Amino acid sequence: MSKDRVSAEYGSLVFTDADMQDRLPKPTYKELKRTIDEGEPIDLDIANEVAHAMKEWALEHGATHFTHWFQPLTGITSEKHDSFISPRGDGTVLMTFSGKELVQGEPDASSFPSGGLRATFEARGYTVWDPISPAFIKDEVLCIPTAFISYTGEALDKKTPLLRSEVLIEKQAKRVLALFGRTPRRVLVTAGLEQEYFLIKEEDYQARPDLILCGRTLFGAEPAKGQELEEHYFGAIRPSVNAFMKEVDDELWKLGIPARTKHNEVAPCQHELAPIYELGTRAIDNNLLTMEKLKLMATHYGLACLEHEKPFEYVNGSGKHDNWSIAADGENLLEPGDDPQDNLQFLVVLSCLIAAVDEHADLLRATVATAGNDHRLGANEAPPAIISIFLGDDLAPIVSGLINHTEVASHDREEIDLGVPQLPNLFRDSTDRNRTSPFAFTGNKFEFRMCGSQQNVSDSNVVLNTAVAEQFDRFANDLENIPEERFVKQALHWVRRTLREHQRVIFEGNGYSPEWELEAAERGLLNNKTTPDALPCMVIQKNIDFFEKYGVLNEAESHARYMAAAEQYSKLLNIESNTMVAMVRNLYLPAVAQYSADLATGVAAKAEIGIVSATEKDLVRTLTEGMDAMYAAAEDLEEKNLEARAIEDVHEQNVRYRDEIVPAMAELRRTVDAMEKVCSKECWPVPSYNDMLFYV
Ligand code: ADP
Ligand code: MG
Repeated sequence: MSKDRVSAEYGSLVFTDADMQDRLPKPTYKELKRTIDEGEPIDLDIANEVAHAMKEWALEHGATHFTHWFQPLTGITSEKHDSFISPRGDGTVLMTFSGKELVQGEPDASSFPSGGLRATFEARGYTVWDPISPAFIKDEVLCIPTAFISYTGEALDKKTPLLRSEVLIEKQAKRVLALFGRTPRRVLVTAGLEQEYFLIKEEDYQARPDLILCGRTLFGAEPAKGQELEEHYFGAIRPSVNAFMKEVDDELWKLGIPARTKHNEVAPCQHELAPIYELGTRAIDNNLLTMEKLKLMATHYGLACLEHEKPFEYVNGSGKHDNWSIAADGENLLEPGDDPQDNLQFLVVLSCLIAAVDEHADLLRATVATAGNDHRLGANEAPPAIISIFLGDDLAPIVSGLINHTEVASHDREEIDLGVPQLPNLFRDSTDRNRTSPFAFTGNKFEFRMCGSQQNVSDSNVVLNTAVAEQFDRFANDLENIPEERFVKQALHWVRRTLREHQRVIFEGNGYSPEWELEAAERGLLNNKTTPDALPCMVIQKNIDFFEKYGVLNEAESHARYMAAAEQYSKLLNIESNTMVAMVRNLYLPAVAQYSADLATGVAAKAEIGIVSATEKDLVRTLTEGMDAMYAAAEDLEEKNLEARAIEDVHEQNVRYRDEIVPAMAELRRTVDAMEKVCSKECWPVPSYNDMLFYV
């Protein structure tokens, strides 16, 4: 059968299950599958055979090196390349790769953030093969997805707890499904991650130290035009961007990443890429690879890809939507069916999810708390910092009917007559798109919309998986001993009670409105506006116990994760402050000084021939005062930052950064942006917002 280009190349750089089946002896393949499915450690003989097959495949595809590919607490991916060569002693080499090299690696852990685990335990860290995610080739390197753990088995990465939480939710979901007489082989979390990003000209990027060092502009006067005309959203894609997107698609498809949708986003220069959903951990691995490819491919087209949550003030920032569901042998458990009110199993899963999000809203909020995301959440472009759930026109009445014991008629999907005979009538979608909700039911899955664009969403899914598993656990405990004939009644009772207890988290209205903030406070919902408000819940006893009870994180690991996130917040703001001060002293002040001096020379020259120029004189005065203000604000920021940097307690330091440094940064920016508005374009040392956002 001849294949089209895409299907021929799709997954060609992935060591797929089919490749494994082709290349391994049947008994070895079967044994490998069995151990993976049953979560047993892999026997070294099997590992040797897999390693051999993997190496042969990799060499055929041009690989020269291998690496254990992992996700330390920085959230990005790490790799250290080793070549396959093994000298024979006669001046030639063999290409070798052993089972031991496949299964375990030992990178020096001491330079990765460990949130204190290193001091308490050991510097050594191990990478351990994660056979659930397939190996792939990137730049002639065979990449083996791994978990990264300390000498004593503590997780030093984002993936280990995610895998633990997936094992947990599968186990608890099976208990629930058993009560419905079902015994699926696998129950797996699914995730679809939509990625937003900006593309600007590479030369503009290179000319801005703030973009290079911090990923976002720390200065910049408001552009003449923003996103108000809404012309960019879904607009025609400019040719260079289109060529870029095509290459990205090709590269991703080769890596077996099901990239599907691409379009222009709301802000100028903003775009989105969405893949088709996959199994939870795979989706995250693939999202990290996607982000890497976006950055790299952009440079092929003279573009720079910005993945920061808020590269530009005055226009929208970028998020990442985490579409989450769970499936039993491929059947989506959040599929309501035609009559959700009669679909008891669906109602149980739904109420477990609602309860999970309400009970652990604090932790869920903490997983999206970063310095970058603080610019987005609650800023009328992204959901507020308050966690609530949107159910939509179909489910909301059913849920309130269950709570209030009122009948809900099953309503057929409404047909909309367009009044144009040539156009077919369409069916109204059962859920409207409430873009203001942080956690929305979208037909047959939930969409968590608070994640930042550059974030590794593992943390969010760890909380979701564990929290839903906890509710499944409770449901199973409450109903496992109920006689069969009373099961339906009791289960329905459980659903009603759970929904009633957690109904405060359901909100169908406008999440951007100021009224919602007040109402949410009355309902007792948390509103942790900034990172220093949001993170500390990670180490309160209730939350430590929650993760410990389910074996997802032990106490030391919870502390480590808090420390790593809190340190990251202060470190990022420190870097931003340093960058601002340096840019002011090295770029802006000299530019304004030169410009005002030139003007002053002109004023003096004119005065000599008896001409008094009021405008120029005025301008020189404004520029001189502006320089003084810039200079003073830079001194002030530097001083405050030095003090903040010296604070030892991480939380105290975080609070100081938020309360003192962030405002001092804003003040410094104000003084510089004011100068940008009155200086000549020629003298301004960096590209403006107008230049960067509106290029042809
Ligand atoms: P929208 O822009 O309306 O949010 P998209 O189609 O761009 O919609 O994105 C929806 C995402 O949700 C896609 O990645 C899609 O594959 C994913 N998705 C669909 N069904 C599921 C599911 N059962 N579990 C997880 N993700 C899903
Ligand atoms: Mg979406």
